[in-house]
Amino acid sequence: MRFDVLTLFPEMFEAVLGESIIGRARSRNIIELNFINIRDFSEDKHRRVDDYPYGGGSGMVMQPMPIYNAYKSIIKDLSHKPKVIYLTPQGKVFTQSFAKELANEKHLILLCGHYEGIDERIIEEIVDIEISIGDFVLTGGEIPAMAVIDAICRLIPGVLGQEESFRDESHFSGLLEYPQYTRPPEFLGKKVPEVLLSGHHANIQKWRREQSVIRTYMKRPDLLEKAPLSDEDRKLLNNIKKD
Ligand code: SAM
Repeated sequence: MRFDVLTLFPEMFEAVLGESIIGRARSRNIIELNFINIRDFSEDKHRRVDDYPYGGGSGMVMQPMPIYNAYKSIIKDLSHKPKVIYLTPQGKVFTQSFAKELANEKHLILLCGHYEGIDERIIEEIVDIEISIGDFVLTGGEIPAMAVIDAICRLIPGVLGQEESFRDESHFSGLLEYPQYTRPPEFLGKKVPEVLLSGHHANIQKWRREQSVIRTYMKRPDLLEKAPLSDEDRKLLNNIKKD
């Protein structure tokens, strides 16, 4: 899968997306990430990319032409039309199911705003999807773009060691993940639950499912409304609610 990121700060990305799991997936050519500096496409002799907002008000607005030129440079030799995502607090809030949907794409272009945002006309012209990473405002779209790329990439086959790595995880099936433990078996007097040391696969699976249901009820009960629950899960929930 290929991602092209349009940004004024391409150097921010390598530190995060050049390392660890995503870095390895890039070196194995499972994913391709390109960071394009919008400033390189300014037609201004001082490489200016922003200007005062029409109508007044504070801050600066990113001009449409450098973004359009940068976008054109990506699509000029393509036979397909990649979806263009604008990271904005006004977009649809990003979720795991949104990440799953986008992981089916072959090529995405992510546009990062800065300052007061970008000229509305470029959004109308090139943007297909507006994504927010939550109801708060950041200084730029770079951190949201990294979060979105990371969440999508780990769903691409081959990026994580085993597909189960993400199938069991929080939000994948609508529930939060069960608690995880590693060595030592006892830490500050707290023991790892016996069942996890038993080697009994079916009992471990049952315990983990129950823990997922209990955790979701305790921490994010709102998720249970949409989660696919079995009769066993519902029975467990009824018992917890009675206690
Ligand atoms: N003036 C804009 C508004 O009120 O909608 C906010 C601009 S914000 C300071 C600058 C840039 O940060 C935006 O263009 C967007 O790319 C990015 N940004 C800020 N918060 C974000 C969020 N929650 N999700 C995604 N992108 C965000």
